[in-house]
Amino acid sequence: MKKQVRWKCERCGDGLLAPSKPRRDDVRRYCLPCSSETGKLVERIAPALEQHRARRVEISRQKKKVERQREKARAEKKMNTPREIAKRKYSQVGEYGMPIKKETERLWKMLAKMPSTLPGARDAIRRVSTWDAPKVSLFEKGWSVDQKNPNRVFISPGAAGTAYYDHTIKVKPCVAWATLAHEIVHRAGYSGHDRDFYMALKWLAETRFRMIIDFSKITRYGYEVDWVISGQIADAVRKTFEKIEEAAS
Ligand SMILES: [Zn+2]
Ligand SMILES: [Zn+2]
Repeated sequence: MKKQVRWKCERCGDGLLAPSKPRRDDVRRYCLPCSSETGKLVERIAPALEQHRARRVEISRQKKKVERQREKARAEKKMNTPREIAKRKYSQVGEYGMPIKKETERLWKMLAKMPSTLPGARDAIRRVSTWDAPKVSLFEKGWSVDQKNPNRVFISPGAAGTAYYDHTIKVKPCVAWATLAHEIVHRAGYSGHDRDFYMALKWLAETRFRMIIDFSKITRYGYEVDWVISGQIADAVRKTFEKIEEAAS
């Protein structure tokens, strides 16, 4: 025999025992005297079943709450990876913006005045005078941040067909400048990361900021040299772009 529960009419309080899941048309579901008095079917309810259902609703609500908290913790954890922190720090909360388009055009023109005594200069000058300044595309996905060194942000100069975003970037300015200049020097025809490339980059930085960059500690040429440059230009970059910022505001 199936387990019986008490069904009760809420109107008259009258009740009886019936299975927990009576058929839809089972007469025990309804209080007949009340139905006859009111002219409408009056249903009986099973308090035990109602309580049980309320408990189930509560448990499921709790489960959902825990799941939401877990979800939130997961999202927070994801937002706090070195990459995400660096992205926030250098793409949004930077000290001030560097006008990428203007700076790119300025550096490009500057390269046309390279002294022809610099290795590779003749080729670079020819390219720079024939080609337009590269279009620098910046978009969220384009950010590439070195996991080990969150200061490092890559900016890719847009090739034909890439979208052009005419806005300022907010990254650590000396790094942004050095990276931009690095890419522009590549664009001028220096493809490797050799001495010729870095001599051109050094010249560009020195000319742009009217200063001398010390390469005396350089023993080999590679990405480390970019750090030497950005370290030495930091003050000059700050002064230069702070002025632009003031003028603009
Ligand atoms: Zn009744
Ligand atoms: Zn490079």
